[in-house]
Amino acid sequence: MNLSSFPEDIVQIGESLIRFVEQEIVPIETANKAIFASERTMFDETGRFTPAVEALKRDVRMKSAEAGFYTMFGPEEIGGGGLGPLASVYLNWLLSAHCGPGRTLIHPVVVPSPFTNGLSPLLTFLDADVRAGHLPQIASGEKTLCFGLSEPDAGSDVFSIKTRAVRDGDDWVITGSKQWITNGPYADYAMVFAITDPELFAQRKGGITGFFVDTSWAGFSVVSTIPIMGHLGAEIGILAFDGLRVPDRYRLGAVDQGLKVALKGVNTGRLGMSATCIGLARWALVQAIEYAKVRKTFGRPIAEHQAVQMLLAESASDLYAAETMLVDCALRLERGERALAETSLVKQHCTDSSNRVFDRCMQVHGGMGLTNELRLEQGYRFTRSMRIPDGTSEIQKRTVARDLIANGITF
Ligand SMILES: Cc1cc2nc3c(=O)[nH]c(=O)nc-3n(C[C@H](O)[C@H](O)[C@H](O)COP(=O)(O)OP(=O)(O)OC[C@H]3O[C@@H](n4cnc5c(N)ncnc54)[C@H](O)[C@@H]3O)c2cc1C
Repeated sequence: MNLSSFPEDIVQIGESLIRFVEQEIVPIETANKAIFASERTMFDETGRFTPAVEALKRDVRMKSAEAGFYTMFGPEEIGGGGLGPLASVYLNWLLSAHCGPGRTLIHPVVVPSPFTNGLSPLLTFLDADVRAGHLPQIASGEKTLCFGLSEPDAGSDVFSIKTRAVRDGDDWVITGSKQWITNGPYADYAMVFAITDPELFAQRKGGITGFFVDTSWAGFSVVSTIPIMGHLGAEIGILAFDGLRVPDRYRLGAVDQGLKVALKGVNTGRLGMSATCIGLARWALVQAIEYAKVRKTFGRPIAEHQAVQMLLAESASDLYAAETMLVDCALRLERGERALAETSLVKQHCTDSSNRVFDRCMQVHGGMGLTNELRLEQGYRFTRSMRIPDGTSEIQKRTVARDLIANGITF
């Protein structure tokens, strides 16, 4: 990443962030090495993080909040640091490039996605009095959130959701389910989207409303976690609502206008996720370069074999393009540009290409690349899985093509 693209104050925050991680978080990781050495000790038999891991993650969030990092991307109007897309790109990239994949206690330090933890921009849509009652615990990292839009029959196509909210006096009664919800099994509060006007909804013109729900309320339940890609447990899960009664004051934004609420913060979230993937990819390439210099076959370092050089060069090509796109897109968003096609291009390219980089870097390591010990395979699995949420690669390309046809090339 070309550091000169970033203002000095952002680079300085980055230095303090890495210092904080090394001084405050790494010692917690080291002291609990026995837990994090294996997923068998991180998850219980139902696939949930054990209470010990949950407590450690909470501890990290609260330490990070105290130090000012946890809420630095939150909107200023609700007490966040208000840092924009450029800072999000740099700081998420830096943290991942420095720490590499598979660091369960590093991830809660910052909030790359504005939907699961911390001061989500969606909270600006909540009634001020209701918000005031919950904000301190959310901002301090003690309590967490989840964002429930997808369902078993509705992912890319939002207008296939079935969860329904029906008005009953001063309340809404929600019935349905949500699937793939990040932090769903652990969250204290859920931001849930449900059909409130079936006619508008059938015409794909709205009819969806967002609600802020306390997950301890009657009618809310966690059905299960969803372990993916060989993991023994998961952060994601399935939620069910059975006559869940939500006071109207807990609505997120206007009735039937929930999609506008859901889309708030999407650009920053996609950029943060992309930067995380590309930071990890840079970490992987550093490992591969070093390994290629020391591993010998046929009497010489594998770095001297042209086929290995191609793997390194192709990875560098992906990385350079992705980092340049990230910075350009972040600068556009900072200037207030729409950057619709650019944000989709970044999300698609960064998630796809970081996954390719991990694949090649594992190949450079031979059998060692497949071992759990080197954590390359964890990065491979993580970047592979990021090609699906927050709009799949195909949906991003669909957005890009539509924008190209309507507006021409904007970059
Ligand atoms: C790790 C993870 C975390 C997630 N976290 C959350 C969360 O916190 N909250 C939440 O609400 N959701 C979450 N999701 C759900 C995620 O947003 C959906 O999985 C995603 O939108 C894709 O939907 P789907 O899985 O139903 O696939 P589908 O929509 O069924 O798509 C299947 C395939 O068809 C392709 N496709 C679909 N429509 C088109 C089209 N028009 N043109 C071209 N190709 C198309 C897709 O790209 C995909 O390849 C998460 C998912 C994962 C994997």
